[in-house]
Amino acid sequence: MIGDDEQLLASPHLYIDGTWVAPVGGGTRQIRNPADGTVIAVVDEAGSADVSAAVAAARRAFDAGSWSTRPPTERAELLLRVAELLDTHRDALARIETLDTGKTLHESHIDIDDVIAVFRYYADLVTTDSDRFVDTGNPAVVSRVVHEPVGVCALIAPWNYPLLQMSWKVAPALAAGATMVVKPSEVTPLSTIALMRLIAQAGVPAGVVNLVQGDGSVVGAALTGTPDVDLISFTGGASTGVAIARAAAEHITRVALELGGKNPHIVFADADHAIAVDAVLTGAFLHSGQVCSAGTRLIVHESIADGFVAELVRRAAGIRVGPGMDPPSQTGPLVSAEHRSKVEAYVALGISEGAELVAGGKRPDDPRLANGSYYLPTIFDRCHRSMRIVQEETFGPILTVERFSTETEAIELGNDTSYGLAAGVQTSDRDRGERVVRALRHGTVWLNDFGTYTPAAEWGGFGRSGTGRELGPSGLAEYRESKHIWHNTAPAVGGWFD
Ligand code: NAD
Repeated sequence: MIGDDEQLLASPHLYIDGTWVAPVGGGTRQIRNPADGTVIAVVDEAGSADVSAAVAAARRAFDAGSWSTRPPTERAELLLRVAELLDTHRDALARIETLDTGKTLHESHIDIDDVIAVFRYYADLVTTDSDRFVDTGNPAVVSRVVHEPVGVCALIAPWNYPLLQMSWKVAPALAAGATMVVKPSEVTPLSTIALMRLIAQAGVPAGVVNLVQGDGSVVGAALTGTPDVDLISFTGGASTGVAIARAAAEHITRVALELGGKNPHIVFADADHAIAVDAVLTGAFLHSGQVCSAGTRLIVHESIADGFVAELVRRAAGIRVGPGMDPPSQTGPLVSAEHRSKVEAYVALGISEGAELVAGGKRPDDPRLANGSYYLPTIFDRCHRSMRIVQEETFGPILTVERFSTETEAIELGNDTSYGLAAGVQTSDRDRGERVVRALRHGTVWLNDFGTYTPAAEWGGFGRSGTGRELGPSGLAEYRESKHIWHNTAPAVGGWFD
């Protein structure tokens, strides 16, 4: 760590009630750089008593109204100050994210820019959003639906886009007037610690934002198992989502789940070849496939499949895998050695299921990469929809290939998944493109593109990819309760029981 990075990460303790505190009941964790295995920081981790203290602080702040009753314009001002501070520390934040996750510095810069954009988007939205008046048919009645903050939120994020995913929650929650306890992934807590520092610097009242880093089974479970939280917003794996939904059900806590995906990318014979190859490669191998919306399931028309796959194999072999801090690297390591073991198990599974390994399938030979958790872009041809390698999220650089003959079959394959987060369609036929994107049961569908998004449009999944939506107006609505106020301006005796 250097300069600004060190300043942002000074005292990596818990942040509770406006103060950086050492945990009462937790411990510490070494945070490693996946590019070379070195320890880059040691952070404090919470115990369940610390989680209770953080939730209590958020509750006191909410009940005191120090944030929840502030006018939207004042909340927006704070969000804009946070955005400015993020901009000021953009380079340091990007370095922190790269050292922690392994992704390339270029990707981290894009992430930080997206984080800044989401704070600005919600600052703008919250000031333009107003009450809704309802026509009851009775001129004496003024009926309006107003929005109020949901209360205390538990915000839990994964390790692949640590700051981005957390900001998709923190920015709208702050805009709505909620108070919160945030828990980053124990694997990648550093950028969230830095964000807390900047939010504090921007002047958020004590107790509105609290940070408890630590293990999911301890800190996450304590945070989701309490009746004192009004909303749980979680991004992560499907099995963790199930555990959280169960915990939420116990207290009828509102819950929003952004889970995994196994995202189809359909290429028709009439697609622009060069654009489609580029989109499939980027969709599958960006950030070494550790992307919830990664297009890891290629569904390609049989008439072009052989040539298309041969080109993918050629291009995949040329992807420069290396440390995220080295400018020539095009993709970095997997987030940890443990995670790489899971990916390797999936490659072994694909082979045992009879898929044809045509690219990668191993660690890079370069001895300079031996201490990092690298894995080569991997392609399995001749896959079938019944294979686990086709149906399960591997969360690594593994692309499977299936062939189709008709449009109907392509749609059927694209929808043959328990998930439904994202999908891509490559075709030069506009009518076909429109038919297919409408038929696919996924939360985001790209036509002649892949992986792009804007904070103004909703993000979330069908099926096992989750419930609720982040981003866009729905992303703000998650953090609000609606209240209907019925004002009778000319009250009279009703006489029902006369
Ligand atoms: P994970 O489910 O292992 O962990 C996510 C978070 O949940 C972490 O902070 C973890 O500590 C916490 N957690 C773990 N067990 C918990 C429990 N019992 N109670 C409460 N919290 C608990 O996921 P991950 O490995 O960090 O992230 C990868 C997953 O996230 C992938 O499945 C990916 O698709 C998904 N993801 C989804 C989106 C989306 O927008 N839909 C975005 C990014 C990642």
